[in-house]
Amino acid sequence: MNIDLKSLTINKAHESMKNGDFTAQELAQAYLDNINPELNAFIVIFDDVLEQAKMADERFKNGTAELLTGIPIAIKNNILIKGKKTTAGSKILEDYNATYDATVITKLKKAGVVFIGGTNLDEFAMGSSTENSAYGVTKNSYDLERVAGGSSGGSAVAVASDMALAALGSDTGGSIRQPASFNGILGLKTTYGRVSRSGAIAVGSSLDQIGPFAKNIEDIKIVYDCIKGEDKMDSTTLKEKNISEIEQKINLSKKMTIGIPRHFLKEGIDSDVMEKFEESIQSFKKKGYEIKEIELPNIKYSLAVYYILMPAEVSANLSRYDGVRFGLKKEGENLLEDYMKTKGIGFGKEVRRRIILGTYILSAGYKDAYYNKAQALREIIREDFKKAFIDVDVILVPTTPTPAFKIGSKGSDPMQMYLEDIFTVSSNVVGNPAISVPMGFVDRDGKNLPVGLQILAPHLYEEALIKVSTDFLN
Ligand code: GLN
Repeated sequence: MNIDLKSLTINKAHESMKNGDFTAQELAQAYLDNINPELNAFIVIFDDVLEQAKMADERFKNGTAELLTGIPIAIKNNILIKGKKTTAGSKILEDYNATYDATVITKLKKAGVVFIGGTNLDEFAMGSSTENSAYGVTKNSYDLERVAGGSSGGSAVAVASDMALAALGSDTGGSIRQPASFNGILGLKTTYGRVSRSGAIAVGSSLDQIGPFAKNIEDIKIVYDCIKGEDKMDSTTLKEKNISEIEQKINLSKKMTIGIPRHFLKEGIDSDVMEKFEESIQSFKKKGYEIKEIELPNIKYSLAVYYILMPAEVSANLSRYDGVRFGLKKEGENLLEDYMKTKGIGFGKEVRRRIILGTYILSAGYKDAYYNKAQALREIIREDFKKAFIDVDVILVPTTPTPAFKIGSKGSDPMQMYLEDIFTVSSNVVGNPAISVPMGFVDRDGKNLPVGLQILAPHLYEEALIKVSTDFLN
C-alpha cells in the first residue's frame, strides 16, 4: 500500500477510508513508517497506535465514522492523554503518566482520531527553539542544522515532515505560530477562552491556549471546530451564547480591510523576510483587499509585559512540582533540601530562571513596580488593538523577524531568544486569535527556508482568519 502522505488532507484521507482505498490501520502504519528519528519530533510514540486505528476501521464498517475518524494526529507532550507518558519536556515529569484526558483529547477521542505520539517541546513550553527540552533538540524540517522553533517544535516538524496529518500545540507567547512559520505549515492560536485548557499543563494561565497545526487551512478549521467550545472543567472558557452573538456579526462577504503597523516593522527584521511580507501585502491588494496603515502605539511594550506576566504565572503554576505530588523526588536532609534537590535536578536552566524571576516579580515591595505595572500596560495594549480594529478587519505582521536560526546560535543569550517572540506575544497579552500561514521561502546558505505571515483578528473572529488565510493561499 503506497499512500501519498505529502498531498494528503483530512478530507482526502476520509474519502479514501470511506471508499476502502486504504484502512485507518494502513494509514497509521504509513505515518509510523515515515517517522524519522533524526528529526527528534517525538518524545514518545504510543504503543497502541494500530489498536486505535483498528477501532477507527470498525467505525467505518458500522457507519459511525466522522470526518476525523482514523486521522493520525500528534499531540504536544504537555497535553494529557490518560495513561500516556506526559513529560512537558521536563526531567521532573519523566515518569509521569496522565491520570485523565484533557478536554481537547476527549473531543478528539470521540471523533475517533488516532493519536500517534507525544511531541517534543521546550521544557514546560518555555523557549522558542525546542532546544530547552530535556529530551534533545528537534531539528528543522528543512535544514537539520537549524532549530524547529518552539516551544511546540515537535508538533510542527511532525506535520511538516509527514509524521502525522495534523497536530496540537500550545501557545503562550507564540509557541504554535513561530514553529509553524519555521517549518512551512499553518498554526492557529485561538482566542483566549475559545478552547478549553483543562488537561493542558499550565504555564502562564492567563496566556496559554491550545491550537492546531496543519498543512492547509481546511485541516486547521476541521481540527479547530472539533476542539473548541465552552467547558465546565475550565471556567475561563467563553460562553457559547456570547460567542454566537459575536459570530453572527461577522460579515465575511464584504470587502475586507487590512491594517499594517508600519511603525512596528522598522528595526531588527531580516530584509528577506520583509521582502516576502511586502509581496504578501501586494498579493492581498490584487485580491481586492484594502490596505491601511495603523498605529498600535504601545505594542512595543508587549514583549516586556509578557516577560513579566509569564514568569510570574510560571512561579505560581510550577510550585506544584515539589517532589511530593508529581514526578521526580530527590530526598535531602529536610523538607527544604528535598525541594531544592528535586527542583534543582528536575528543572532545566530556563525553567529555573523563570521561576526565580517570577518569584522576585511577585515578592512584596516589587509587585507594584513590575507585576501591577505590566497588568496596567496589558489593558493599555488591549485598548490599542480595540481602537485599531474599528478601522480594519485584520492586522498583518511577519510571524518572526528571521527564518529558522542555527541550533546553538542563541542558546547562551536568553534576551536574543526572547526577541524571537516580538511579533507573537501581543496576541497572548491581549487574548485575540492569530494564525501563521506560509508566505514563501528565503535563501540561507543555499537552502530554502520557509517564513510565515501572521494574521491577527479581533476576539472570536477565527472565521475571519480562516477566510483571509484561504484568500491568501489560493
Ligand atoms: N517563546 C515564548 C516563551 O519562551 C513563548 C512560549 C510559548 O508560547 N509557550 O515564553
